[in-house]
Amino acid sequence: MSEKEVLHILGERIALGESAKVSFNVAKLHTQNTIDVPVIIERSKKPGPTVLITAGIHGDEVNGVEIVRQIIAKGINKPKKGTIICIPVINVFGFIHMDREFPDGRDLNRVFPGGKGGSLASRVAHKLMTEIVPHADLILDFHTGGADRFNAAQVRIVKNEIVLDELAQVFGAPFIYYSKNLNKSFRNSCYKLGIPMLLFEGGKSFNIDSTITNTGVNGTKRVLHHLEMLGRKFKVSKPKKNCVKISDSKWIRANHSGMFKADVAVTTQVKKGDVLGHITDPYGSFNHFVKAPNDGYIFNVNESPIIYQGDAIFHISTKLES
Ligand SMILES: [Zn+2]
Repeated sequence: MSEKEVLHILGERIALGESAKVSFNVAKLHTQNTIDVPVIIERSKKPGPTVLITAGIHGDEVNGVEIVRQIIAKGINKPKKGTIICIPVINVFGFIHMDREFPDGRDLNRVFPGGKGGSLASRVAHKLMTEIVPHADLILDFHTGGADRFNAAQVRIVKNEIVLDELAQVFGAPFIYYSKNLNKSFRNSCYKLGIPMLLFEGGKSFNIDSTITNTGVNGTKRVLHHLEMLGRKFKVSKPKKNCVKISDSKWIRANHSGMFKADVAVTTQVKKGDVLGHITDPYGSFNHFVKAPNDGYIFNVNESPIIYQGDAIFHISTKLES
């Protein structure tokens, strides 16, 4: 085997046809316990592309972690050709504490590309960007909605990128949401390196939703099939519905504080004026309707039973792409 065909990663040498679990060690806890961030690598005997599959950049986003867990447990990560690298929980620190942030209080997804001598979060970002990401030809990064806000399954990409558009279509989530790369995010840093990334969002924090996890797992299978990497024993199915492409959207905010109940589920197509939900008070004295301000698709619903005036309660599309 030529030296080129050996993967040099995190101090290990992994040949074609080999499997390995390597550890992405960064720092110890204050108790001196080491924190292990497992990186699971599967290489086919046949050379081919390298796909990096990540989740848990935010420690509270368990739905994304569950998607990567299923990909590994079902053996979808054993490629017919090429290499698949899975990191199911990047922010193990946050995952232990059931916390979105890093123990240093930082949002890992706002410190990329990081620095060797920076904060703890920044060092993790730097190590990821220098020791793992450069091996990847494609990255699938799995996220979940924040707090009680339930995201419809969606792939987020920037506009006017032919490769990303094609891969997002292949993935086949109900929505493609065109959104700009946020400064200092993982997605933005990979974009700058010219490595395509599909960012998946689905569900809400501290919740595992089987519709969302199925969409994530099936989408991954479709992308691997498209790259001719999916193992022979797996079947791919076409998405049930055509993908809706959202290029602009707005949050509908609560006009009143109170108890909240949504009448529509995520992915519902609505008309201007349709009743989307109700805001009431505990004493039965008012019942305010929340109405759709325009025609569009509802792709995030706040599932919190108690809301305050100004809280974001529905995310609705305002502009679609054909
Ligand atoms: Zn996230």
